[in-house]
Amino acid sequence: MEKGMISVDRWSESSQVYFLTHLHADHTKGLSSNWNRGPIFCSPITAKLFPVKFPGLRLSLIRVLEIGSLYSLPLVSPSTGSQTIIQVTAIDAHHCPGAVMYLFRGEFGCMLFTGDFRWEGTTERALIGKSMLLNALGGEKVDFLYLDNTYCNPSYSFPPREVVAQQVVKIIASHPEHDVIIAINTLGKEDLLLHISRTLNTKIWVWPERLQIMHLLGFHDIFTTKTSLTRVRAVPFYSFSINTLEELNSIRPTIGIMPSGLPWVVRPLDENDPSLGSSLSTHQHISNCNTNRKDQVNRNQQIEELSSVRKFHQYIYTVPYSDHSCFDELQDFIKLVQPLNMRGIVSSSSCYIDPLYYFRDLHGQNESAKQSSNKFQQRKINGNVEKLETKSSNVCHTIHMPVKSERTRKAKAGYLGVHMSKVSILRRRSRGVKIVEIDGVD
Ligand SMILES: [Zn+2]
Repeated sequence: MEKGMISVDRWSESSQVYFLTHLHADHTKGLSSNWNRGPIFCSPITAKLFPVKFPGLRLSLIRVLEIGSLYSLPLVSPSTGSQTIIQVTAIDAHHCPGAVMYLFRGEFGCMLFTGDFRWEGTTERALIGKSMLLNALGGEKVDFLYLDNTYCNPSYSFPPREVVAQQVVKIIASHPEHDVIIAINTLGKEDLLLHISRTLNTKIWVWPERLQIMHLLGFHDIFTTKTSLTRVRAVPFYSFSINTLEELNSIRPTIGIMPSGLPWVVRPLDENDPSLGSSLSTHQHISNCNTNRKDQVNRNQQIEELSSVRKFHQYIYTVPYSDHSCFDELQDFIKLVQPLNMRGIVSSSSCYIDPLYYFRDLHGQNESAKQSSNKFQQRKINGNVEKLETKSSNVCHTIHMPVKSERTRKAKAGYLGVHMSKVSILRRRSRGVKIVEIDGVD
């Protein structure tokens, strides 16, 4: 992509402003504590967590966007070189703490970047998020949707996280004499741990960096780094393996719980390769890249299979607790926003699941991006700092931007003038590598 105005979760190329959806490592690749390319827009919680993830980063570069509020930014149009104003609203993505999606409006039209998101639609929080999104849209269609296509395949269907959290509690309660380890990321799955703690009235062990994050998130009494205080421990994904469980069981009876939307299987033991016998790998997801519509015939059977708790190893349970939307939720989301066009943000060198393959019939057909852009132009007010009136919000905050360099002014627009990350995710570069990633397993 050519240089443009805005980058979302993309840090390798020059832009006038940068937006971060959330702090998982696969969305911050290229961002470092030495960052000095420009302001970083993010949610309040993400801003709070920044010093832990990027110690030493200049906090003056952080711009906090309140969830649901409308902001206007004066930028320089890459196509004309003159000033243009974009609007942006951050909306709760229900993924991990601080995660947001961004709705942009400007000369490029109306664009929605979901980042990683879960669209359950059943919880009160989800209903608030839906209402916020509809309010921000103000009845308009989305011209271009950048979609979290992690589970964009009909074979992926899992229950709401509340339901799975109850399943996890049942597993732990049915092993009263066992220690329990639960694999988690450096951010995310907090609601699951809180549910376990409250229901079973127990503290939960976490590693020191994770405890620091928990304290920043406001959880002061539930988590501990003292192993003597609890039999339930949340451990990093990279330390969760069959070998670990077997070693732990030589000392004390221990079970492991793997919460993930991905179905995990045990690789067959190869006597000639002892390392294979103790690894978990993903099953089915990537291999379904070439799935054709005939496979949907078996969907119900697959849903039933994938929705339940599974025990793949003597000591390991897997539960479909996912912070990404499953296929049906993606479908509901697309029906709601009716994008004129869309593409997935998750890809790898070996696979890209195009949302249009499954949702071609659902995206909107009623108005063009040009029409939408014209509507924006009609209601735009000239000047850098004036309040914008739109249907989508009663409140508008204006952000003052530094003077752009001549180099930036001459920069040509990329696609729609916006750099959007392909999120070239390490975890998906080959099948089954998620287990060894510290971050990005969610
Ligand atoms: Zn994520």
